Amino acid sequence: MTEILKTPHSVPLKLLWMSTPVGPLGSGLGGGVELTLTNLNQVLSQRGHQIQIVAPAGSVLPNISVIEIPGDPPPTAHTQMRDTPALISAGAVLPGMWNYARSHQHRFDLIVNFAYDWLPFYLTPFFQVPVAHFVSMGSLSKVMDWAIAQVVELFPSRIGFYTETQARTFKSSINHLSTEALSSGQILGSAIDLALYHYCSEPANCLAWLGRVSPEKGLEDAIAAAQATGIPLKIMGKLEDSAYWQQLQMDYPHAPVQYLGFLPTVDMQAELRCCRALLMTPRWVEAFGNVAIEALACGVPVIAYSRGGPREIVDPGRTGYLVSPDSVDGLIEAIAAIDQIDRRACREQAEVRYSLEALGDRFEVWFNQILSSMSPLDCG
Ligand code: UDP
Repeated sequence: MTEILKTPHSVPLKLLWMSTPVGPLGSGLGGGVELTLTNLNQVLSQRGHQIQIVAPAGSVLPNISVIEIPGDPPPTAHTQMRDTPALISAGAVLPGMWNYARSHQHRFDLIVNFAYDWLPFYLTPFFQVPVAHFVSMGSLSKVMDWAIAQVVELFPSRIGFYTETQARTFKSSINHLSTEALSSGQILGSAIDLALYHYCSEPANCLAWLGRVSPEKGLEDAIAAAQATGIPLKIMGKLEDSAYWQQLQMDYPHAPVQYLGFLPTVDMQAELRCCRALLMTPRWVEAFGNVAIEALACGVPVIAYSRGGPREIVDPGRTGYLVSPDSVDGLIEAIAAIDQIDRRACREQAEVRYSLEALGDRFEVWFNQILSSMSPLDCG
């Protein structure tokens, strides 16, 4: 039987978790938020909280039951223009998910939204049970900035972010987003189950690139660096945009790259840990970059563009290098210096900063802050 662990500040809560509608859990279409949700579920269930997850039909989580809702996914936020309005098509999954939340809300103390979509933010004041929002991407569209701003105005504690860098992308549109409020518990970070990632001290001569294969991830720069150095690049992740992938193959027909597919964590880390470094080449402000901490946990240094979440993760010169954004030459220089990084320091950083226990503590503090700030006016 699983041991029930409790921190002094936690009383067991009944939590309803609303997953991202962009794809079933386990498909990889949800990106890092799938991992965050799964890991958080693991640590908080072990502490005695009762969690019910609602997600699109087809969701698969090992040993976890999910309420599956049928329907079509929305377009992903990063594929839309900044001015694109919120779109909901007939047969969309998101309204069905939130209909479930509406009709079952009274069985729960708190509803937690993991979707980066307008509807759940808009619905927040209409619910009698508090709705907390874990925002998984930076500012991408006016309509989302507006929806988040409405919630911040009414319920300032109910918005959580991965990183400060990500939260700052909303600063110009959300006046009430005060730095003090954010530093006092709404920057929640991420974590991994360290037991799943195995340390490797003697890598092979190859590099890794991990993530959704989609233009905002800038895979072409990693391929260009592999071509220039002649060091093979292993690519793992969901093929979200096949036209983009085909274009990359046409642009770099002779680059030493190998696409291994979207692998389950256990297989992904087995490939990753044998690599000399992970390359992170995002064009956008990465909200966190879960793949960075997965690499560190295997002892793999991270070479990342100095923008977004990876800036808060990589300790330059100790656990990797931060490179001038969009500079392939910078990547090549960092690759040449990679052997100066002690791989044990990478694993240590993951152990100290990204344990599930620490993540569970931060979310418990946030949930308790929301529940203790409830006034009769907060309830619908
Ligand atoms: N991932 C995976 N298998 C793969 C490649 C990637 O499970 O073969 C997962 C990885 O564990 C991480 C996610 O894909 O959780 C990518 O998340 P990240 O936060 O780096 O970026 P996002 O997709 O959220 O922008």
